[in-house]
Amino acid sequence: MTKPRVAIFDFACCEGCQLQVVDMEEELLDLISIVEPVTWREAMSEHSDQYDIALVEGSITRPEDEERLRGIRERARVLVAIGACAITGGVNRIKNSFDLDDVKRVVYGPAAAMPHLQTQRTRGAPEVVKVDYLVHGCPMDSAEFAYIVRCLALGKTPVIPDYPVCVECKAKSNVCRYEYGEICLGVVTRAGCGAACPSRGMWCFGCRGLAPNPNVPAAREVMDQYGKTAEDLAEKLVLFNSESEGVPQEQVHA
Ligand code: SF4
Ligand code: SF4
Ligand code: SF4
Repeated sequence: MTKPRVAIFDFACCEGCQLQVVDMEEELLDLISIVEPVTWREAMSEHSDQYDIALVEGSITRPEDEERLRGIRERARVLVAIGACAITGGVNRIKNSFDLDDVKRVVYGPAAAMPHLQTQRTRGAPEVVKVDYLVHGCPMDSAEFAYIVRCLALGKTPVIPDYPVCVECKAKSNVCRYEYGEICLGVVTRAGCGAACPSRGMWCFGCRGLAPNPNVPAAREVMDQYGKTAEDLAEKLVLFNSESEGVPQEQVHA
């Protein structure tokens, strides 16, 4: 059987999601037995523009990013966005709440006027090109990544949870973070991480993005029960879900 050729690309991000792949160690050897990496700047010096599956990390923040992403899309049979930056713009998207000239001045100081320091509103890959699959999280969940790559190599459609983190959290019998007076975004965030943060004594900060059709009345009920407000919840959502309505989810399968 011919192994699908895989290329990994990065845009504006910390490259933490690619690092998750490097860190997979033995699991990575398993994956390499079913797919062939041909381009991956973080881990290999070889390069090829002939690939079947493109994995894209990072957000789109410059005109040349957009052009490069369109080229990747044209060459790839399947395009997968890995991590919150690539899916929604992630933390980088907070930039969109400010005047872009102010953002440049704060970041680059006197150099902000230099022509090569172009910046534009941050977008996730699905806002620029058609994306076939998403690997959620910041960083992305490496087990879910391995599952999705296996499915693609075998021609299967991956199934990603569409219910909130609370479902996984309650199944683990965790004490709810609201009992500690905290605000946890698990009520509206897509599951699939095994309620990683609440299981380690932290509130969920929403890195997997909003669950499709979140149960808003139930979320309101939780807020009311613990003396919190919708504004409290909205304030926490800014980190990973600012302008989340701008992400065209209908363009992706998962
Ligand atoms: S999603 Fe998080 S870990 Fe991944 S590249 Fe973006 S900031 Fe880094
Ligand atoms: S709100 Fe947070 S801590 Fe409470 S059940 Fe849901 S995920 Fe767990
Ligand atoms: S619990 Fe929330 S913040 Fe933590 S990994 Fe899961 S989705 Fe991300």
